[in-house]
Amino acid sequence: MDHRLLEIIACPVCHGKFSYDKENLELICKFDRLAFPVRDGIPVLLENEARALPTEESR
Ligand SMILES: [Zn+2]
Repeated sequence: MDHRLLEIIACPVCHGKFSYDKENLELICKFDRLAFPVRDGIPVLLENEARALPTEESR
């Protein structure tokens, strides 16, 4: 995914910055512990599409 895109987009829940998980192709919000999917290079920034991360997973 384009790194410039990562600088533009923000978490729809807390408006914080994401970290990108290259292995799982997900955008991680550490604050909300949500992982948003990236499908065909396009981030899906929908809260109901996000996956809740297990607690204490540090990335
Ligand atoms: Zn967030």
